[in-house]
Amino acid sequence: MLKFAELRAILADPALLARLKQSQREYLLNFESATFDTAYAERRFRIGLVHERVGLAQKWYLGAYRHLAELIVRRLADRYAGDAPRLTSLTLTLHKTFRLDEIFVVEAYYHNTTQRLEQSLRELTEAHRQMELLSRLDPLTQIANRRALLEALDKELRRSRRYHRRLALLFLDVDHFKTINDEHGHAFGDRVLRHLTGATAALIRLADIFGRYGGEEFVIGLVECDEPMAEEVAERIRQTIARTAFEWDGHRAHITVSIGVALSTPEVATLDALIEQADRALYRAKTRGRNRVELYRPSPPA
Ligand code: GH3
Ligand code: MG
Ligand code: MG
Repeated sequence: MLKFAELRAILADPALLARLKQSQREYLLNFESATFDTAYAERRFRIGLVHERVGLAQKWYLGAYRHLAELIVRRLADRYAGDAPRLTSLTLTLHKTFRLDEIFVVEAYYHNTTQRLEQSLRELTEAHRQMELLSRLDPLTQIANRRALLEALDKELRRSRRYHRRLALLFLDVDHFKTINDEHGHAFGDRVLRHLTGATAALIRLADIFGRYGGEEFVIGLVECDEPMAEEVAERIRQTIARTAFEWDGHRAHITVSIGVALSTPEVATLDALIEQADRALYRAKTRGRNRVELYRPSPPA
């Protein structure tokens, strides 16, 4: 076995080599008296596991075994040249035992490989789950990003239609955010967005949908909500944010938001149409002075 570099690397430790030689000796000396019981099977299986674990490829193990069998058969042939029945009987015993032992080894390798693959699969599944989660989160605010937001809203809109309930959409935009950035720096602006999402999340229900639509724009989907309730929630968000000055790192600013509100009706066919309505209401809130909540009103027919 030491003729091969790959095996020499594994058998480099003299103590290990001595141990292997000793166990090989015992194996051969007990060959004829072996009883093939559970203990025997477990021992062979364990030997296979150990070999697999030290990194010995299966082909080397089986190859060495074949080689050993060959050596023994040659010796037996020399020794029992004149005793054909004994030679036959010994050769058959040898083959039977070696076959059995090989099967145990193959089983052990298979067992270990399967276990390792299963472990890898578990780790991959978990990594994939984490990736999925991350791919749906906005890194700055830790709320749903645009993709996850739109997906959730679309699903909710379908559900609300199925159960004849209404979905309220709040389109929220920070007032004069560009000025806040200009006056206090971009890092402060980032903090404002995080402060804002934290405060807003605390005012809506767990089942409601909340995500970052882009930049300083956020959308909230209030499930099973009527118009007075949607307006009330929007007002509460607006007032909560406007009430206190936000301070961070020696900077201080009053933040206000404008919110446009639209409610799903059987006529509003798509999510895009609903968002468009909320956006129109938001635009009105902006033109009417900001720091306001406006409900969508269809423009009267011309
Ligand atoms: P209005 O009241 O009309 O909404 O004015 P505004 O200044 O808020 O609107 P505008 O759309 O002109 O500016 C939005 C600004 O938001 C510009 C952009 O630099 C800033 N912004 C977008 N995303 C981020 C962000 O992640 N962090 C920070 N700090 N600023 C951002
Ligand atoms: Mg904007
Ligand atoms: Mg803005």
